[in-house]
Amino acid sequence: SGKWARAMAILREFEEKCGTPIGKLRQVADAMTVEMHAGLASEGGSKLKMLISYVDNLPTGDEKGLFYALDLGGTNFRVLRVQLGGKENRVVKQEFEEVSIPPHLMVGSSEALFDFIAQALAKFVAEEGEGFHPAPGRQRELGFTFSFPVRQTSISSGTLIKWTKGFSIEDTVGEDVVGELTKAMEKLKLDMRVTALVIDTIGTLAGGRYHDNDVIAAVILGTGTNAAYVERAHAIPKWHGLLPKSGEMVINMEWGNFRSSHLSLTEYDHALDAESLNPGEQIFEKLISGMYLGEIVRKVLVKMAEEAAIFGETVPPKLKIPFILRTPHMSAMHHDTSPDLKVVASKLKDVLEISNTSLKTRKIIVELCDVVATRGARLSAAGILGILKKLGRDTIRVGEKQKSVVALDGGLYEHYTKFRTTMENTLKELLGDEVAANVFVEHSNDGSGIGAALLAASHSQYL
Ligand code: ADP
Ligand code: MG
Repeated sequence: SGKWARAMAILREFEEKCGTPIGKLRQVADAMTVEMHAGLASEGGSKLKMLISYVDNLPTGDEKGLFYALDLGGTNFRVLRVQLGGKENRVVKQEFEEVSIPPHLMVGSSEALFDFIAQALAKFVAEEGEGFHPAPGRQRELGFTFSFPVRQTSISSGTLIKWTKGFSIEDTVGEDVVGELTKAMEKLKLDMRVTALVIDTIGTLAGGRYHDNDVIAAVILGTGTNAAYVERAHAIPKWHGLLPKSGEMVINMEWGNFRSSHLSLTEYDHALDAESLNPGEQIFEKLISGMYLGEIVRKVLVKMAEEAAIFGETVPPKLKIPFILRTPHMSAMHHDTSPDLKVVASKLKDVLEISNTSLKTRKIIVELCDVVATRGARLSAAGILGILKKLGRDTIRVGEKQKSVVALDGGLYEHYTKFRTTMENTLKELLGDEVAANVFVEHSNDGSGIGAALLAASHSQYL
């Protein structure tokens, strides 16, 4: 029928606009490299902030002793302790506890929030059992993963730029979050010192490096997306401080904010951006991260419902609700291998209250998920190629066999199998067999927890 042809036309047109042939991916990678240079050259020189993290020592594996981590990045926070046993024994023992933050504290006062966190930390310390040995006469040391926008002022201090993710506490903005936590700990006479303040991406980098010395970058693909990598300190023109002893500096790229004319956005991407809380910002993130992929699919489905009546004469009301179709739903539909696509049918029913769809319609939906996920995965691979290029690791130098490992983490990467395999295969395709044989993508499990404790160790006041 005409309606059917119209639905296919919408799909094909979208697919064509989302096309990421290898030549285009190379342009994206090149643009990423160019923006990295610009962001390192001067403050505000690029959409890529290329923030200096003050992390100039990554863990080596030699770290020894008891260290703590605190991970605050959402409605829960985690406290963790880890006993490190050096090269031979590695992580001897670890324990963690997760605490949910009462909603009223997310919108209350800074003092109340940090008091609550310090209390949980004090309780955690008090319950320390067998196998954990605080060094006599030394302060306990903590790595603080704080996944909100912070202007870092040293390895162990940073001022909050703004709260996100449902937090709204006026009096913390502009304050040093380590100072706030320290004040709260002092009130409780908790003798603990924050020696590293980092974001989750850098924790992942540290966790990856601890296990594998060839880890040079970390990428998070979760609700949002970001990347961090190890830069040579003398290749950072905007850095006017002393060169670190290690000669290295970890850069927080904030790559979610990357944009380039080569990304060629569709009408759906423009609409999503315009309706978002941060129009014009985080364009790369809006193409590849878990927060948005399902929403892009929904937008195309609305168009098909309106113009091709694929769900009948009226547009199903639930389908009109922004963000109702989450990326995990999309992933479940995309991976449906049953002959009659019953997972697709059940998601449509459970999430969107749409029943009685034809197999043909369900097949279109699976294809649509594939288009959106494939584009996101391939663009992610191009971003990684951009980092490798910046480091000169996208080619093989004569007589040199350097292995490069990129640590990956985040729910999208972990759970969306087709996304992950497409991303990994595309990176191989871009690098070519010879170089790809020396480039590895590794899942860095729970870097943001252990990673911060490792950074507390590698930036210990006792070194
Ligand atoms: P965050 O990025 O918030 O720290 P995670 O790294 O755990 O959290 O990632 C969570 C995100 O991962 C979700 O918002 C979702 O987009 C994505 N995700 C989780 N599970 C799945 C799944 N089964 N399939 C696809 N995406 C998933
Ligand atoms: Mg996370």
